[in-house]
Amino acid sequence: MAINFETYDNDNIFAKILRGELPNTTVFEDDHVLAFHDIAPAAPVHVLVIPKGRYIAHDDFHRDASDAEVIAFWRAVGRICHELDVAGDGHRLIVNQGAASWQLVPHFHVHILAGTDLGPLLAS
Ligand code: AMP
Repeated sequence: MAINFETYDNDNIFAKILRGELPNTTVFEDDHVLAFHDIAPAAPVHVLVIPKGRYIAHDDFHRDASDAEVIAFWRAVGRICHELDVAGDGHRLIVNQGAASWQLVPHFHVHILAGTDLGPLLAS
């Protein structure tokens, strides 16, 4: 189903996780950010980092979020990489935006992938 970029969907899976209506395996949480293991990991380490605010994708997050939210988010991404012991050498961050990228969940998230040789950027 196409993502509606005009209106945040309160029933998306990550909104339900944030409300505690669905379980998650939390690896980090603070006032602005939640991070948890992906339910269908694409690598030995596959963590999703999401802001607690209602943002559909990185476009509206970086346009509409407060400086405090943006700073907290990216500091958390860096901190989580260290806590997972995948900082340095190395890991991959992925952000999908819209249909061309196959974004499935309409709540902004960063994928942290690590734990193996991740190969080239895009599968051929
Ligand atoms: P994207 O294609 O960037 O929207 O990625 C969405 C990600 O959310 C996928 O990697 C899914 O495996 C993951 N996912 C979907 N439902 C859940 C869930 N309940 N808990 C954790 N991860 C989920």
